[in-house]
Amino acid sequence: MGVGGWLKSMTDYDTPKQIRIQSVTCGCLQSFLYATIALAICCIVIKYRLHQEVDEVNSSIRTSVKGVVDASNRIWDTAEYTISMQAVNSFFVMTNMIKTENQLEQECPEYPSAKSICSSDQSCKKGSVDVHSHGILTGRCVRYNTAVKTCEVRAWCPVESMETPPEPAVLRSSEDFTVLIKNNIHFPKFNDTVLNIPPILNTSCTYNKKTSPLCPIFRLGDILKEANQNFSEVAVKGGIIAIEINWDCNLDRWFYDCSPKYSFRRLDDKKITPGFHFRYARYYKLPDGKEQRTLFKVYGIRFDVLVFGTGRKFDAIELIKNVGSMISYFGLVVTIMELLIRIGQCASCGKSPFYKIYNRRKYEILPFSRQVIYVSYVDEPYVTLIQKPLKTSLQHTEGTIVESHPVKFCDADSCCNSEFNENHDNEQYELRQPLREGAHSPDSRKWCFCGKCQPTEKYHEQLCCRRKEGQCITTTHSFQQLVLCSDTLKKALLYKYPFLILTDANINKELRHFAYKQYIHWSFGSFDLEDRAVVPNCCRWKIRDTYPKAINNYIGFNVE
Ligand code: ZN
Ligand code: ZN
Repeated sequence: MGVGGWLKSMTDYDTPKQIRIQSVTCGCLQSFLYATIALAICCIVIKYRLHQEVDEVNSSIRTSVKGVVDASNRIWDTAEYTISMQAVNSFFVMTNMIKTENQLEQECPEYPSAKSICSSDQSCKKGSVDVHSHGILTGRCVRYNTAVKTCEVRAWCPVESMETPPEPAVLRSSEDFTVLIKNNIHFPKFNDTVLNIPPILNTSCTYNKKTSPLCPIFRLGDILKEANQNFSEVAVKGGIIAIEINWDCNLDRWFYDCSPKYSFRRLDDKKITPGFHFRYARYYKLPDGKEQRTLFKVYGIRFDVLVFGTGRKFDAIELIKNVGSMISYFGLVVTIMELLIRIGQCASCGKSPFYKIYNRRKYEILPFSRQVIYVSYVDEPYVTLIQKPLKTSLQHTEGTIVESHPVKFCDADSCCNSEFNENHDNEQYELRQPLREGAHSPDSRKWCFCGKCQPTEKYHEQLCCRRKEGQCITTTHSFQQLVLCSDTLKKALLYKYPFLILTDANINKELRHFAYKQYIHWSFGSFDLEDRAVVPNCCRWKIRDTYPKAINNYIGFNVE
Protein backbone atom coordinates (compact mmCIF):
# COMPACT_ATOMS: atom_id res chain seq x y z
CA MET A 1 0.00 0.00 0.00
CA GLY A 2 1.41 3.35 -1.00
CA VAL A 3 1.34 6.50 1.04
CA GLY A 4 -1.84 7.55 -0.76
CA GLY A 5 -3.53 4.27 0.09
CA TRP A 6 -2.40 4.51 3.66
CA LEU A 7 -3.75 8.06 3.96
CA LYS A 8 -6.99 6.94 2.39
CA SER A 9 -7.34 4.13 4.91
CA MET A 10 -6.80 6.68 7.69
CA THR A 11 -9.80 8.68 6.55
CA ASP A 12 -12.13 5.68 6.22
CA TYR A 13 -14.11 4.18 9.04
CA ASP A 14 -14.05 0.38 9.27
CA THR A 15 -17.00 -1.18 11.05
CA PRO A 16 -16.92 -4.76 12.32
CA LYS A 17 -19.18 -7.10 10.39
CA GLN A 18 -21.73 -8.91 12.51
CA ILE A 19 -24.04 -11.84 12.02
CA ARG A 20 -27.55 -11.71 13.48
CA ILE A 21 -28.91 -15.08 14.56
CA GLN A 22 -32.68 -15.01 14.63
CA SER A 23 -33.19 -17.11 17.73
CA VAL A 24 -35.33 -16.11 20.68
CA THR A 25 -33.25 -18.31 23.00
CA CYS A 26 -29.95 -16.82 21.87
CA GLY A 27 -31.39 -13.29 21.92
CA CYS A 28 -32.82 -13.67 25.43
CA LEU A 29 -29.63 -15.29 26.68
CA GLN A 30 -27.56 -12.46 25.24
CA SER A 31 -29.83 -9.81 26.76
CA PHE A 32 -29.72 -11.63 30.09
CA LEU A 33 -25.91 -11.74 29.99
CA TYR A 34 -25.70 -8.05 29.09
CA ALA A 35 -28.11 -7.16 31.88
CA THR A 36 -26.17 -9.33 34.36
CA ILE A 37 -22.87 -7.68 33.44
CA ALA A 38 -24.40 -4.19 33.59
CA LEU A 39 -25.83 -5.01 37.03
CA ALA A 40 -22.49 -6.45 38.16
CA ILE A 41 -20.67 -3.29 37.03
CA CYS A 42 -23.18 -1.13 38.94
CA CYS A 43 -22.75 -3.29 42.07
CA ILE A 44 -18.96 -3.16 41.84
CA VAL A 45 -19.01 0.63 41.34
CA ILE A 46 -21.28 1.13 44.36
CA LYS A 47 -19.64 -1.46 46.63
CA TYR A 48 -16.08 -0.32 46.02
CA ARG A 49 -17.17 3.31 45.56
CA LEU A 50 -15.39 3.60 42.23
CA HIS A 51 -17.30 6.80 41.45
CA GLN A 52 -15.39 8.67 44.14
CA GLU A 53 -11.94 10.12 44.36
CA VAL A 54 -9.92 9.00 47.38
CA ASP A 55 -7.70 11.02 49.69
CA GLU A 56 -5.63 9.86 52.67
CA VAL A 57 -6.24 11.46 56.03
CA ASN A 58 -3.83 13.97 57.58
CA SER A 59 -4.17 14.06 61.35
CA SER A 60 -3.12 15.82 64.54
CA ILE A 61 -3.74 14.66 68.10
CA ARG A 62 -4.07 16.36 71.44
CA THR A 63 -4.78 14.49 74.65
CA SER A 64 -5.57 15.50 78.18
CA VAL A 65 -5.72 13.01 81.06
CA LYS A 66 -7.79 13.80 84.13
CA GLY A 67 -7.95 12.15 87.58
CA VAL A 68 -6.53 12.33 91.08
CA VAL A 69 -5.69 9.44 93.37
CA ASP A 70 -4.39 9.04 96.92
CA ALA A 71 -1.83 6.24 97.03
CA SER A 72 1.19 5.47 99.24
CA ASN A 73 0.35 8.46 101.46
CA ARG A 74 0.70 10.78 98.55
CA ILE A 75 -1.70 12.68 96.30
CA TRP A 76 -1.14 11.81 92.66
CA ASP A 77 -2.47 14.40 90.26
CA THR A 78 -2.03 14.86 86.51
CA ALA A 79 1.43 16.40 86.87
CA GLU A 80 2.57 13.38 88.91
CA TYR A 81 1.46 10.49 86.81
CA THR A 82 1.44 11.81 83.23
CA ILE A 83 4.97 12.06 81.94
CA SER A 84 5.35 13.62 78.54
CA MET A 85 6.72 11.27 75.91
CA GLN A 86 9.08 11.96 73.06
CA ALA A 87 6.82 10.07 70.67
CA VAL A 88 4.17 11.97 68.77
CA ASN A 89 0.55 10.96 69.25
CA SER A 90 1.28 9.12 72.52
CA PHE A 91 0.59 9.72 76.18
CA PHE A 92 1.81 7.89 79.24
CA VAL A 93 0.02 7.18 82.51
CA MET A 94 2.10 5.91 85.43
CA THR A 95 0.61 2.90 87.21
CA ASN A 96 3.50 1.55 89.34
CA MET A 97 7.00 2.53 90.48
CA ILE A 98 10.14 1.75 92.48
CA LYS A 99 11.51 4.82 94.25
CA THR A 100 15.15 5.11 95.43
CA GLU A 101 15.62 8.23 97.54
CA ASN A 102 18.63 10.32 98.56
CA GLN A 103 21.17 9.05 96.04
CA LEU A 104 24.64 10.65 96.16
CA GLU A 105 27.61 10.08 93.88
CA GLN A 106 29.97 7.98 96.07
CA GLU A 107 31.21 4.40 96.77
CA CYS A 108 28.85 1.71 97.98
CA PRO A 109 28.31 -2.06 97.57
CA GLU A 110 26.58 -3.22 94.39
CA TYR A 111 23.11 -4.79 94.59
CA PRO A 112 23.63 -8.57 95.04
CA SER A 113 23.49 -10.59 91.82
CA ALA A 114 25.32 -13.60 90.37
CA LYS A 115 27.98 -11.31 88.92
CA SER A 116 28.38 -8.88 91.81
CA ILE A 117 28.61 -11.28 94.77
CA CYS A 118 32.27 -11.73 95.84
CA SER A 119 34.39 -13.37 98.51
CA SER A 120 37.59 -11.32 98.18
CA ASP A 121 38.98 -8.27 96.37
CA GLN A 122 40.35 -10.54 93.59
CA SER A 123 36.81 -11.10 92.32
CA CYS A 124 36.35 -7.36 91.74
CA LYS A 125 38.55 -5.98 88.99
CA LYS A 126 39.18 -2.29 89.53
CA GLY A 127 37.86 0.03 86.79
CA SER A 128 35.80 -2.64 85.01
CA VAL A 129 32.15 -2.05 84.27
CA ASP A 130 29.30 -4.38 83.44
CA VAL A 131 26.30 -3.33 81.39
CA HIS A 132 23.99 -4.51 84.15
CA SER A 133 25.89 -2.88 87.03
CA HIS A 134 25.05 0.49 88.52
CA GLY A 135 28.62 1.88 88.54
CA ILE A 136 32.35 1.34 88.06
CA LEU A 137 34.16 -1.23 90.24
CA THR A 138 36.62 0.12 92.79
CA GLY A 139 38.39 -3.25 93.20
CA ARG A 140 37.19 -3.89 96.77
CA CYS A 141 34.87 -6.61 98.04
CA VAL A 142 32.65 -5.20 100.81
CA ARG A 143 29.73 -6.33 102.91
CA TYR A 144 26.27 -5.52 101.43
CA ASN A 145 24.42 -6.86 104.49
CA THR A 146 25.08 -9.40 107.20
CA ALA A 147 24.59 -12.33 104.83
CA VAL A 148 26.34 -11.33 101.59
CA LYS A 149 29.41 -9.46 100.28
CA THR A 150 29.41 -7.68 96.93
CA CYS A 151 31.90 -5.71 94.84
CA GLU A 152 32.05 -2.04 95.70
CA VAL A 153 31.13 0.43 92.94
CA ARG A 154 31.41 4.13 92.46
CA ALA A 155 27.83 5.07 91.60
CA TRP A 156 24.73 6.95 92.70
CA CYS A 157 24.40 5.39 96.14
CA PRO A 158 22.56 3.65 97.58
CA VAL A 159 22.07 1.71 94.34
CA GLU A 160 18.60 0.85 93.19
CA SER A 161 17.32 -2.49 94.38
CA MET A 162 16.55 -4.80 91.49
CA GLU A 163 13.32 -5.95 92.95
CA THR A 164 10.22 -6.77 90.98
CA PRO A 165 7.64 -3.97 90.92
CA PRO A 166 5.16 -3.85 93.79
CA GLU A 167 2.03 -5.93 93.46
CA PRO A 168 -0.74 -4.78 93.42
CA ALA A 169 0.37 -1.69 91.53
CA VAL A 170 0.75 1.55 93.43
CA LEU A 171 -1.57 3.50 91.13
CA ARG A 172 -3.95 0.67 90.31
CA SER A 173 -6.92 2.98 90.88
CA SER A 174 -5.79 5.03 87.87
CA GLU A 175 -8.17 2.93 85.84
CA ASP A 176 -10.80 5.51 86.71
CA PHE A 177 -8.79 8.29 85.05
CA THR A 178 -10.22 9.69 81.87
CA VAL A 179 -8.57 10.97 78.73
CA LEU A 180 -9.99 13.43 76.24
CA ILE A 181 -8.62 12.84 72.72
CA LYS A 182 -8.94 15.71 70.30
CA ASN A 183 -8.33 14.56 66.77
CA ASN A 184 -8.25 17.01 63.91
CA ILE A 185 -8.19 15.50 60.45
CA HIS A 186 -7.73 17.13 57.08
CA PHE A 187 -8.20 15.95 53.50
CA PRO A 188 -5.86 18.11 51.38
CA LYS A 189 -7.42 17.12 48.01
CA PHE A 190 -10.88 18.21 49.11
CA ASN A 191 -9.70 20.94 51.50
CA ASP A 192 -11.99 19.54 54.15
CA THR A 193 -11.29 19.53 57.89
CA VAL A 194 -13.16 17.43 60.42
CA LEU A 195 -12.90 17.23 64.23
CA ASN A 196 -13.78 14.18 66.28
CA ILE A 197 -15.49 16.36 68.86
CA PRO A 198 -19.13 17.25 68.18
CA PRO A 199 -19.91 21.02 68.11
CA ILE A 200 -21.71 20.72 71.43
CA LEU A 201 -19.63 18.40 73.59
CA ASN A 202 -21.28 16.82 76.58
CA THR A 203 -18.26 16.90 78.94
CA SER A 204 -19.84 14.37 81.27
CA CYS A 205 -20.03 11.66 78.63
CA THR A 206 -17.78 8.62 78.58
CA TYR A 207 -17.05 6.50 75.54
CA ASN A 208 -19.03 3.30 75.27
CA LYS A 209 -18.91 1.17 72.17
CA LYS A 210 -22.68 0.70 72.12
CA THR A 211 -24.30 3.57 73.97
CA SER A 212 -21.90 6.41 73.28
CA PRO A 213 -19.56 5.49 70.39
CA LEU A 214 -18.71 9.07 69.40
CA CYS A 215 -17.82 10.45 72.84
CA PRO A 216 -14.11 11.45 72.77
CA ILE A 217 -13.66 10.98 76.54
CA PHE A 218 -12.34 7.56 77.46
CA ARG A 219 -12.03 5.86 80.85
CA LEU A 220 -8.64 4.10 80.98
CA GLY A 221 -10.21 0.98 82.51
CA ASP A 222 -12.69 0.80 79.61
CA ILE A 223 -9.90 1.14 77.05
CA LEU A 224 -8.09 -1.85 78.58
CA LYS A 225 -11.34 -3.77 78.72
CA GLU A 226 -12.05 -3.13 75.04
CA ALA A 227 -8.53 -4.38 74.30
CA ASN A 228 -9.36 -7.56 76.27
CA GLN A 229 -6.87 -6.73 79.05
CA ASN A 230 -7.15 -6.68 82.82
CA PHE A 231 -6.15 -3.23 84.08
CA SER A 232 -4.84 -4.41 87.47
CA GLU A 233 -2.60 -6.96 85.77
CA VAL A 234 -1.24 -4.55 83.16
CA ALA A 235 -0.74 -1.85 85.83
CA VAL A 236 1.97 -3.88 87.61
CA LYS A 237 4.52 -3.99 84.77
CA GLY A 238 2.95 -1.55 82.36
CA GLY A 239 2.15 -2.03 78.70
CA ILE A 240 1.49 -0.37 75.37
CA ILE A 241 -2.06 0.06 74.16
CA ALA A 242 -3.09 1.32 70.73
CA ILE A 243 -6.10 3.57 70.38
CA GLU A 244 -7.03 3.32 66.73
CA ILE A 245 -9.19 5.98 65.16
CA ASN A 246 -10.50 4.97 61.79
CA TRP A 247 -12.07 7.59 59.56
CA ASP A 248 -14.02 6.41 56.56
CA CYS A 249 -15.56 9.57 55.22
CA ASN A 250 -18.08 10.03 52.47
CA LEU A 251 -17.81 13.74 51.76
CA ASP A 252 -20.56 13.90 49.13
CA ARG A 253 -23.14 16.45 50.15
CA TRP A 254 -26.14 14.12 49.81
CA PHE A 255 -24.58 11.15 51.58
CA TYR A 256 -22.32 12.98 54.01
CA ASP A 257 -20.98 10.63 56.64
CA CYS A 258 -17.75 11.34 58.45
CA SER A 259 -17.40 10.07 61.98
CA PRO A 260 -14.58 8.24 63.70
CA LYS A 261 -14.62 4.59 64.74
CA TYR A 262 -12.53 3.76 67.78
CA SER A 263 -10.87 0.45 68.47
CA PHE A 264 -8.27 -0.71 70.98
CA ARG A 265 -5.61 -3.40 71.16
CA ARG A 266 -2.48 -4.23 73.10
CA LEU A 267 0.77 -3.64 71.24
CA ASP A 268 3.47 -5.08 73.57
CA ASP A 269 3.81 -8.82 73.66
CA LYS A 270 1.96 -10.28 76.60
CA LYS A 271 4.11 -13.44 76.75
CA ILE A 272 7.66 -12.34 75.91
CA THR A 273 8.99 -9.47 78.06
CA PRO A 274 5.69 -7.75 78.63
CA GLY A 275 5.41 -4.29 80.16
CA PHE A 276 6.65 -0.78 79.69
CA HIS A 277 8.93 1.09 82.10
CA PHE A 278 11.61 3.75 82.22
CA ARG A 279 13.57 5.73 84.83
CA TYR A 280 13.75 9.37 85.66
CA ALA A 281 15.28 11.32 88.52
CA ARG A 282 14.63 14.51 90.45
CA TYR A 283 17.71 16.40 91.58
CA TYR A 284 18.39 18.60 94.63
CA LYS A 285 21.34 20.52 96.01
CA LEU A 286 22.36 19.78 99.56
CA PRO A 287 23.42 22.69 101.81
CA ASP A 288 27.06 21.59 101.31
CA GLY A 289 26.67 21.96 97.52
CA LYS A 290 26.53 18.26 96.76
CA GLU A 291 23.96 17.04 94.27
CA GLN A 292 21.41 14.53 95.48
CA ARG A 293 18.67 12.81 93.58
CA THR A 294 15.58 10.68 93.93
CA LEU A 295 15.40 7.94 91.30
CA PHE A 296 12.07 6.72 90.00
CA LYS A 297 11.69 3.53 88.01
CA VAL A 298 8.19 4.01 86.67
CA TYR A 299 5.87 1.43 85.18
CA GLY A 300 2.87 2.52 83.26
CA ILE A 301 0.75 2.30 80.17
CA ARG A 302 1.72 4.10 77.02
CA PHE A 303 -1.25 4.88 74.83
CA ASP A 304 -0.42 5.27 71.13
CA VAL A 305 -3.14 7.02 69.15
CA LEU A 306 -3.10 5.71 65.60
CA VAL A 307 -5.21 7.58 63.08
CA PHE A 308 -5.90 6.25 59.61
CA GLY A 309 -8.63 6.41 57.04
CA THR A 310 -9.74 7.82 53.74
CA GLY A 311 -12.05 10.49 52.48
CA ARG A 312 -14.06 10.04 49.30
CA LYS A 313 -15.85 12.49 47.12
CA PHE A 314 -17.72 12.07 43.80
CA ASP A 315 -15.54 12.65 40.77
CA ALA A 316 -16.86 12.32 37.22
CA ILE A 317 -13.41 11.56 35.78
CA GLU A 318 -12.92 8.75 38.30
CA LEU A 319 -16.33 7.32 37.41
CA ILE A 320 -15.65 7.45 33.67
CA LYS A 321 -12.19 5.94 34.18
CA ASN A 322 -13.42 3.04 36.27
CA VAL A 323 -16.58 2.30 34.30
CA GLY A 324 -14.56 2.58 31.08
CA SER A 325 -12.13 -0.05 32.30
CA MET A 326 -15.03 -2.37 33.15
CA ILE A 327 -16.88 -1.95 29.85
CA SER A 328 -14.56 -4.60 28.44
CA TYR A 329 -16.51 -7.12 30.57
CA PHE A 330 -19.29 -6.85 27.98
CA GLY A 331 -16.91 -8.65 25.63
CA LEU A 332 -17.48 -11.71 27.84
CA VAL A 333 -20.98 -12.00 26.39
CA VAL A 334 -19.58 -12.62 22.91
CA THR A 335 -17.10 -15.15 24.33
CA ILE A 336 -19.83 -16.99 26.26
CA MET A 337 -22.24 -17.02 23.30
CA GLU A 338 -19.49 -18.19 20.97
CA LEU A 339 -18.57 -20.92 23.48
CA LEU A 340 -22.19 -22.09 23.71
CA ILE A 341 -22.45 -22.20 19.90
CA ARG A 342 -19.23 -24.22 19.75
CA ILE A 343 -20.54 -26.63 22.41
CA GLY A 344 -23.78 -26.98 20.41
CA GLN A 345 -21.76 -27.60 17.28
CA CYS A 346 -19.69 -30.30 19.00
CA ALA A 347 -22.85 -31.89 20.44
CA SER A 348 -24.41 -32.14 16.98
CA CYS A 349 -21.06 -33.25 15.45
CA GLY A 350 -21.36 -30.32 13.02
CA LYS A 351 -24.23 -32.01 11.17
CA SER A 352 -26.88 -29.46 12.02
CA PRO A 353 -27.76 -27.25 9.01
CA PHE A 354 -27.71 -24.23 11.31
CA TYR A 355 -24.03 -24.67 12.15
CA LYS A 356 -23.15 -25.27 8.50
CA ILE A 357 -24.81 -22.01 7.48
CA TYR A 358 -23.38 -20.28 10.54
CA ASN A 359 -19.82 -21.26 9.64
CA ARG A 360 -20.34 -20.32 6.03
CA ARG A 361 -21.60 -16.88 6.97
CA LYS A 362 -19.16 -16.26 9.76
CA TYR A 363 -15.88 -17.23 8.17
CA GLU A 364 -14.93 -15.81 4.85
CA ILE A 365 -11.98 -17.79 3.63
CA LEU A 366 -9.34 -15.72 1.96
CA PRO A 367 -6.42 -17.80 0.66
CA PHE A 368 -3.15 -16.02 1.21
CA SER A 369 -1.53 -17.58 -1.80
CA ARG A 370 -1.80 -15.83 -5.14
CA GLN A 371 -1.77 -19.23 -6.80
CA VAL A 372 -5.50 -19.85 -6.62
CA ILE A 373 -8.34 -19.97 -9.12
CA TYR A 374 -12.07 -20.36 -8.72
CA VAL A 375 -14.31 -22.60 -10.79
CA SER A 376 -18.08 -22.89 -10.89
CA TYR A 377 -20.15 -25.73 -12.32
CA VAL A 378 -23.73 -25.26 -13.36
CA ASP A 379 -24.78 -28.46 -11.56
CA GLU A 380 -23.17 -27.57 -8.22
CA PRO A 381 -24.49 -24.93 -5.85
CA TYR A 382 -21.08 -23.66 -4.69
CA VAL A 383 -17.89 -22.20 -6.03
CA THR A 384 -14.71 -24.27 -5.71
CA LEU A 385 -11.27 -22.92 -4.93
CA ILE A 386 -8.32 -24.68 -6.55
CA GLN A 387 -4.67 -24.22 -5.68
CA LYS A 388 -2.16 -24.11 -8.46
CA PRO A 389 0.01 -25.41 -10.01
CA LEU A 390 -2.22 -27.96 -11.67
CA LYS A 391 -1.02 -31.56 -11.99
CA THR A 392 -3.99 -32.73 -14.02
CA SER A 393 -6.91 -31.14 -15.85
CA LEU A 394 -8.61 -28.30 -14.02
CA GLN A 395 -11.83 -30.30 -14.20
CA HIS A 396 -10.33 -33.13 -12.15
CA THR A 397 -8.25 -31.13 -9.72
CA GLU A 398 -9.55 -31.40 -6.18
CA GLY A 399 -10.48 -28.10 -4.58
CA THR A 400 -12.15 -26.73 -1.51
CA ILE A 401 -15.68 -25.42 -1.38
CA VAL A 402 -15.92 -21.69 -0.78
CA GLU A 403 -18.47 -21.80 2.02
CA SER A 404 -19.13 -18.13 2.42
CA HIS A 405 -19.91 -17.62 -1.19
CA PRO A 406 -22.95 -15.60 -2.27
CA VAL A 407 -25.80 -17.17 -4.18
CA LYS A 408 -24.85 -18.41 -7.60
CA PHE A 409 -27.05 -20.00 -10.18
CA CYS A 410 -27.12 -23.76 -10.55
CA ASP A 411 -29.26 -26.45 -12.13
CA ALA A 412 -32.03 -25.69 -9.75
CA ASP A 413 -34.13 -22.61 -10.28
CA SER A 414 -31.99 -20.33 -8.21
CA CYS A 415 -31.12 -17.07 -9.89
CA CYS A 416 -28.37 -14.60 -9.51
CA ASN A 417 -28.49 -10.94 -10.12
CA SER A 418 -26.35 -9.64 -12.91
CA GLU A 419 -24.73 -6.50 -11.72
CA PHE A 420 -21.56 -5.30 -13.32
CA ASN A 421 -18.14 -4.83 -11.99
CA GLU A 422 -16.29 -1.69 -12.96
CA ASN A 423 -12.76 -2.95 -12.65
CA HIS A 424 -12.77 -5.80 -15.01
CA ASP A 425 -9.60 -6.30 -16.91
CA ASN A 426 -10.71 -7.43 -20.30
CA GLU A 427 -7.30 -8.49 -21.48
CA GLN A 428 -7.03 -11.20 -18.84
CA TYR A 429 -9.74 -13.05 -20.66
CA GLU A 430 -8.20 -12.90 -24.06
CA LEU A 431 -7.50 -16.19 -25.65
CA ARG A 432 -3.85 -15.83 -26.38
CA GLN A 433 -3.21 -18.95 -28.30
CA PRO A 434 -5.32 -20.58 -30.94
CA LEU A 435 -7.14 -23.59 -29.60
CA ARG A 436 -7.22 -26.64 -31.68
CA GLU A 437 -10.49 -26.91 -33.50
CA GLY A 438 -12.06 -30.09 -34.63
CA ALA A 439 -14.19 -32.97 -33.57
CA HIS A 440 -14.23 -34.07 -29.92
CA SER A 441 -11.25 -36.28 -29.40
CA PRO A 442 -11.28 -39.09 -26.84
CA ASP A 443 -8.98 -36.90 -24.71
CA SER A 444 -11.60 -34.20 -24.24
CA ARG A 445 -14.15 -36.78 -23.24
CA LYS A 446 -12.14 -37.45 -20.09
CA TRP A 447 -12.93 -34.04 -18.69
CA CYS A 448 -15.91 -32.73 -20.71
CA PHE A 449 -19.36 -33.75 -19.53
CA CYS A 450 -21.45 -31.46 -21.69
CA GLY A 451 -20.12 -32.53 -25.07
CA LYS A 452 -19.40 -28.99 -26.24
CA CYS A 453 -15.84 -28.43 -25.03
CA GLN A 454 -12.90 -28.28 -27.42
CA PRO A 455 -9.85 -30.45 -26.90
CA THR A 456 -6.80 -28.74 -25.48
CA GLU A 457 -3.46 -29.79 -24.04
CA LYS A 458 -3.40 -27.11 -21.35
CA TYR A 459 -4.60 -28.24 -17.96
CA HIS A 460 -6.02 -24.86 -16.99
CA GLU A 461 -8.19 -24.81 -20.11
CA GLN A 462 -9.56 -28.29 -19.46
CA LEU A 463 -12.68 -27.16 -17.65
CA CYS A 464 -16.25 -28.09 -18.52
CA CYS A 465 -19.40 -26.23 -17.54
CA ARG A 466 -20.67 -29.34 -15.73
CA ARG A 467 -19.51 -31.81 -13.10
CA LYS A 468 -21.74 -34.62 -14.31
CA GLU A 469 -23.11 -35.62 -17.71
CA GLY A 470 -25.87 -33.28 -18.88
CA GLN A 471 -26.94 -30.44 -21.09
CA CYS A 472 -24.33 -27.80 -21.86
CA ILE A 473 -25.09 -24.36 -20.49
CA THR A 474 -24.32 -22.85 -23.88
CA THR A 475 -27.29 -24.65 -25.44
CA THR A 476 -29.78 -23.11 -23.02
CA HIS A 477 -32.10 -20.23 -23.79
CA SER A 478 -30.80 -18.44 -20.67
CA PHE A 479 -27.23 -18.46 -21.98
CA GLN A 480 -28.45 -17.13 -25.30
CA GLN A 481 -30.39 -14.35 -23.63
CA LEU A 482 -28.05 -13.38 -20.82
CA VAL A 483 -24.57 -13.98 -22.21
CA LEU A 484 -24.72 -14.09 -25.98
CA CYS A 485 -27.61 -11.86 -27.03
CA SER A 486 -25.99 -8.81 -28.63
CA ASP A 487 -28.94 -6.60 -27.70
CA THR A 488 -28.53 -7.50 -24.04
CA LEU A 489 -24.78 -6.95 -24.14
CA LYS A 490 -25.07 -3.65 -25.98
CA LYS A 491 -27.65 -2.34 -23.52
CA ALA A 492 -25.58 -3.47 -20.61
CA LEU A 493 -22.47 -1.91 -22.11
CA LEU A 494 -24.23 1.39 -22.75
CA TYR A 495 -25.74 1.22 -19.30
CA LYS A 496 -22.24 1.11 -17.93
CA TYR A 497 -20.42 3.24 -20.48
CA PRO A 498 -23.02 5.71 -21.79
CA PHE A 499 -20.52 7.45 -24.08
CA LEU A 500 -19.07 4.31 -25.59
CA ILE A 501 -19.18 4.37 -29.34
CA LEU A 502 -19.49 0.93 -30.81
CA THR A 503 -17.86 0.82 -34.22
CA ASP A 504 -17.49 -2.09 -36.53
CA ALA A 505 -13.82 -2.21 -35.61
CA ASN A 506 -14.26 -2.71 -31.92
CA ILE A 507 -17.79 -4.00 -31.50
CA ASN A 508 -16.88 -7.68 -31.44
CA LYS A 509 -14.04 -7.15 -29.01
CA GLU A 510 -16.23 -5.17 -26.58
CA LEU A 511 -19.11 -7.59 -26.79
CA ARG A 512 -16.85 -10.61 -26.39
CA HIS A 513 -15.19 -9.26 -23.29
CA PHE A 514 -18.47 -8.21 -21.84
CA ALA A 515 -19.92 -11.62 -22.51
CA TYR A 516 -17.11 -13.24 -20.46
CA LYS A 517 -17.88 -10.89 -17.61
CA GLN A 518 -21.58 -11.55 -17.92
CA TYR A 519 -20.97 -15.26 -17.66
CA ILE A 520 -18.72 -14.92 -14.59
CA HIS A 521 -21.20 -12.70 -12.78
CA TRP A 522 -24.00 -15.04 -13.67
CA SER A 523 -22.23 -18.28 -12.94
CA PHE A 524 -20.20 -17.28 -9.86
CA GLY A 525 -22.70 -14.86 -8.39
CA SER A 526 -19.84 -12.68 -7.25
CA PHE A 527 -17.75 -9.82 -8.38
CA ASP A 528 -14.87 -10.49 -5.99
CA LEU A 529 -13.70 -13.54 -7.89
CA GLU A 530 -13.66 -11.96 -11.32
CA ASP A 531 -9.87 -11.79 -11.59
CA ARG A 532 -9.43 -15.42 -10.58
CA ALA A 533 -12.53 -17.02 -12.04
CA VAL A 534 -12.18 -19.42 -14.98
CA VAL A 535 -14.73 -19.47 -17.80
CA PRO A 536 -15.40 -23.08 -18.90
CA ASN A 537 -13.99 -24.19 -22.19
CA CYS A 538 -17.38 -24.64 -23.91
CA CYS A 539 -18.57 -21.17 -22.92
CA ARG A 540 -15.39 -19.52 -24.08
CA TRP A 541 -15.67 -21.19 -27.44
CA LYS A 542 -19.32 -20.31 -27.78
CA ILE A 543 -18.66 -16.64 -26.99
CA ARG A 544 -15.65 -16.53 -29.25
CA ASP A 545 -17.54 -18.12 -32.09
CA THR A 546 -20.37 -15.61 -31.67
CA TYR A 547 -18.08 -12.56 -31.52
CA PRO A 548 -14.94 -13.60 -33.38
CA LYS A 549 -11.85 -11.53 -33.86
CA ALA A 550 -11.19 -10.17 -37.31
CA ILE A 551 -8.01 -12.21 -37.54
CA ASN A 552 -8.05 -15.55 -35.86
CA ASN A 553 -5.15 -15.08 -33.48
CA TYR A 554 -6.57 -15.66 -30.03
CA ILE A 555 -3.81 -15.60 -27.57
CA GLY A 556 -5.19 -18.03 -25.02
CA PHE A 557 -6.84 -17.73 -21.70
CA ASN A 558 -4.68 -16.22 -19.03
CA VAL A 559 -5.13 -17.32 -15.47
CA GLU A 560 -1.60 -16.74 -14.32
ZN1 ZN B 1 -17.92 -29.76 -21.61
ZN1 ZN C 1 -20.73 -27.02 -21.60
